[in-house]
Amino acid sequence: MRRLAVLGATGSIGESTLDVVRRFPDRFRVVALAAGGRRIDRLAAQVRETGARWVAVPDEAAAEALRCRGVTAEVLAGPQGLVQVAGLEEADVVVSAVVGAAGLLPTYAAVLAGKIVALANKESLVAAGEVVMAAARRTGARILPVDSEHSALFQALEGRDPGQVRRLILTASGGPFRGRSRGSLAGVGVDEALAHPNWSMGPKITVDSATLMNKGLEVIEARWLFDVPADRIDVAVHPESIVHSLVEFVDGSLIGQLGPPDMRIPIAYALSHPERLPLPDLSVDLVRAGRLTFEEPDRDAFPCLDLAYEALRAGGTVPAVLSGANEEAVAAFLARRLGFLEIAEAVAAALDAHRPHPLTTVQEALEADLWARRFVKGWVGRRGRG
Ligand code: NAD
Ligand code: MG
Repeated sequence: MRRLAVLGATGSIGESTLDVVRRFPDRFRVVALAAGGRRIDRLAAQVRETGARWVAVPDEAAAEALRCRGVTAEVLAGPQGLVQVAGLEEADVVVSAVVGAAGLLPTYAAVLAGKIVALANKESLVAAGEVVMAAARRTGARILPVDSEHSALFQALEGRDPGQVRRLILTASGGPFRGRSRGSLAGVGVDEALAHPNWSMGPKITVDSATLMNKGLEVIEARWLFDVPADRIDVAVHPESIVHSLVEFVDGSLIGQLGPPDMRIPIAYALSHPERLPLPDLSVDLVRAGRLTFEEPDRDAFPCLDLAYEALRAGGTVPAVLSGANEEAVAAFLARRLGFLEIAEAVAAALDAHRPHPLTTVQEALEADLWARRFVKGWVGRRGRG
């Protein structure tokens, strides 16, 4: 029986995680849940269903709202509560699925506590990958990727000699704007950006998929998870989203993982590793899929991809600035205060203005993230729509 703490329980990954848990009641028990304050009814229902003993929410108002709904679990309020449940002695596996920089401290806490960390929150590795991975080596925490591409790479690399890897190839769906020219993207609206062709996900990552920033963040995530430098990580657009990523070995062999685009597969693998769980309803019919295609990403229409490579090569605090600036710019886009193409412009402006320094602590990553958010807020304001 693995005891789970699910952070970001009410989100897309959180709900899919609970779906996996529901299917295997003899294997998993949820001891703690954490979420933001937006879907309190849903969170209360999850606490009742799972019997979680602890639940963390961002503030006292959300805590009170939970208690009003008859939740008898111990309610922890404030950012500290999130960190507390991440390090809970009663949990073996921490599912890190809060969105954005808010996921960094709890992920780090889980790593410091030596947990198995089922990591969906890529932003924590983007902002502070070096520090988080070093801590995991010290404490023996295992970071198991939930991100589908990284789960594919993890599966392709398992049991193999890292010295024999030539390069990693991350696949990307291309998002809703694949094939569009840069010029045609100037006026695209929020609804269009949120209409992802293959995956149903939270709004931030869905916009990141539309700009290709998601793939850029994933390149950085892969760099830290698998200790492969930027110049040996490539991206191929694969609109069918069936090949979830590939490893090329020194002899030219490509080993990848294929499957239907359903996050419950990588989630289940992270929860039960090294075992595989039976998910009989999930499969892909390759004959019906008919054709698997691959193409170069359009780096002109989607400049966020190269901004991420640039940030990774610069190192230090720069990736944290990339992540923070992007999160703020995406929030402004979703609030209709920024145009689609301006997301990349805002991030580029933040990278230009930042004076980088080496990163030795998570605190420094959080400060760089915060600096970038303030910068983008000001930048949006100067555009006259803030
Ligand atoms: P989502 O927006 O659907 O859910 C986010 C969750 O985080 C919600 O439960 C929300 O309440 C919680 N949350 C937000 N701010 C919080 C805060 N300050 N304190 C506590 N909880 C907070 O997002 P998602 O799509 O589930 O993505 C979650 C993470 O997983 C992201 O980092 C994303 O990049 C990554 N990821 C998601 C997918 C996917 O298919 N959705 C795939 C790969 C990686
Ligand atoms: Mg992914």
